[in-house]
Amino acid sequence: TSFKNMNLAQPLLRALESEGYDTPTPIQAQTIPICLDGHDVLGIAQTGTGKTAAFALPILDRFSRNTTKIAPRRPRALVLAPTRELATQIAVSFRTYGRFLRLSVETAFGGTPVGKQKRALDRGVDILVATPGRLIDLLEQRALTLDGIEVLVLDEADQMLDMGFIHALRRIVPLVPKSRQTLFFSATMPKDIAELAGKYLTNPKKVAV
Ligand code: AMP
Repeated sequence: TSFKNMNLAQPLLRALESEGYDTPTPIQAQTIPICLDGHDVLGIAQTGTGKTAAFALPILDRFSRNTTKIAPRRPRALVLAPTRELATQIAVSFRTYGRFLRLSVETAFGGTPVGKQKRALDRGVDILVATPGRLIDLLEQRALTLDGIEVLVLDEADQMLDMGFIHALRRIVPLVPKSRQTLFFSATMPKDIAELAGKYLTNPKKVAV
């Protein structure tokens, strides 16, 4: 199969073409149709498999069809990742695949001044990629609300638990509307991760590569 058969919006197909991507990776071939249908996803996949595009393309597709003007401090998609390096890579991917769309992608992670992140949120952000700790700081400072989140992604969930972010996740996820779509990725699926996924996902479709 090719990306052209996946019903993705034209601007996304153009971006994929200019990246030289023609064929979806296995995780993309499995995940993208499920996401486009609006289902929750429980994905078991490592980095290097193309999982970033597997969740980024459906989110960009949704927002390309529904470009409501974003409200200040009210992002529409939230991606949680364990490290600033991964958050940065994810944001770069969103910007690359979304280059022909007018959508804003911002990052929020520790070790960088909070003021710049707050100003970006004030201007309005479509897609926020954050580490859990910094997101808690920003929520405590009333820099944003999560009540406009339509899609929630937890990337490398096992890594987030290993890094002690469980308490942050327990505070963050209940602030996101129940009606959201949730995409949950982990390289491994031990009992504690499976339990967490069970709590956060609604009738998920499982994908594994
Ligand atoms: P990820 O697992 O999301 O970190 O992606 C791994 C690498 O594969 C990244 O450098 C992507 O740019 C690249 N990539 C993702 N999807 C495709 C694809 N369908 N065809 C070729 N390269 C891809």
